[in-house]
Amino acid sequence: MIIANHINKQYIIENYLLLFTVYFNKNLEILETINNFNVICFFATISGHMISTKNILSKAIHFHTLNKNEILYILKEKNTKMLFYMANKIRKEYVGDEVHLRALIEFSNYCIRNCLYCGLRKDNYRLVRYRLEPWKIIELAQKAKNCNYKTVVLQSGEDPYYTTKKMKDIISAIKSLDIVVTLSIGEKTFNEYEAYRNSGADRYLLRIETTNSILYNKLNPEMNLKNRMKCIEYIKKLGYEVGSGIMVGLPGQTLESIAKDILYLKSIPVDMAGIGPFIYHPNTPISLKTNSHGTNNAFELSLKVMAILRLLMPWINIPATTAMETLNTQGRLIALQSGANVVMPNATETIYRKYYEIYPGKICLKDSTQYCRFCIENKIKSINRYVSNGKGFCKKTK
Ligand code: SF4
Repeated sequence: MIIANHINKQYIIENYLLLFTVYFNKNLEILETINNFNVICFFATISGHMISTKNILSKAIHFHTLNKNEILYILKEKNTKMLFYMANKIRKEYVGDEVHLRALIEFSNYCIRNCLYCGLRKDNYRLVRYRLEPWKIIELAQKAKNCNYKTVVLQSGEDPYYTTKKMKDIISAIKSLDIVVTLSIGEKTFNEYEAYRNSGADRYLLRIETTNSILYNKLNPEMNLKNRMKCIEYIKKLGYEVGSGIMVGLPGQTLESIAKDILYLKSIPVDMAGIGPFIYHPNTPISLKTNSHGTNNAFELSLKVMAILRLLMPWINIPATTAMETLNTQGRLIALQSGANVVMPNATETIYRKYYEIYPGKICLKDSTQYCRFCIENKIKSINRYVSNGKGFCKKTK
């Protein structure tokens, strides 16, 4: 009995030391070789700190579901290594190593809205405004196609200059080039969404930003959360691929509210989830005061949200957002290795890029479409991934 006890203790100590070494040397390749989640569980079991994280991640990986408290627990967890490792593993398993590129054409920075955090808000009189004529937008789409992009994202502020007729003409012309069209032009009526869809638009991107109605209504004057949700319902009903997402790190935003946002995105469910860290813009009325989880933490927290979404909806498309690279020079590559599988390089004509200043410090302001395409492909190759040749539809819906 005494000997048995001794063996058990020695066994536990030896395994503990092995896993302690692996874990704290952050050598996840060894974990990959071991490839045994039970081994990780063993470590988690004997380490009181990790036990809940292990259980929650295990549930997420196997059942793709978590409740609000479990999401909250992961959001609060300081040790993120296991979360990002698992999100990357699930990404590889469900959507593979290919990275889908979407050429982003920012065609107008006029906006009738006044969102408190956004540099394009109508009351930002310091911003030089521009809008491109339909023929120019179509020309930029053609250039994107010449650079081997299969999708363009047409993005603007909410600009009434582009009537339904104008948008229909633009969409039809671009579709005739055999390019997938994503629209990111804000809140519209059902009839407008329907007209765009009938002209061939494939995807619509409308971020919810936050599902906390008090915060939403405060940050987006003259808008309301109910209508935003209704717009997303319309988009879904019309058969678009639905892209939505949130802003992470907004002043006044809590982790609990983010946990609810994640559950909202899953409830739709979205085909694409874009997570953008909040970046303070000095020409907006928003305060620079840090919020409950610290503005400086927005990059890491955005990665966590992204990784959780990958575990909960393994098949969806998740962009490594440009804003992440503004906060971290390797931001997009880090995101691609933490669950993301999409990048949206800028395909706007270089002279206009600096005026599309939703937030300051945007990357690639002086680069050309050709250069951005070349640069991102090399970055993707540097992490042993590759640019997809396909149109990048969400695997579950197509
Ligand atoms: S967030 Fe969108 S709707 Fe709001 S001001 Fe900026 S561009 Fe306009």
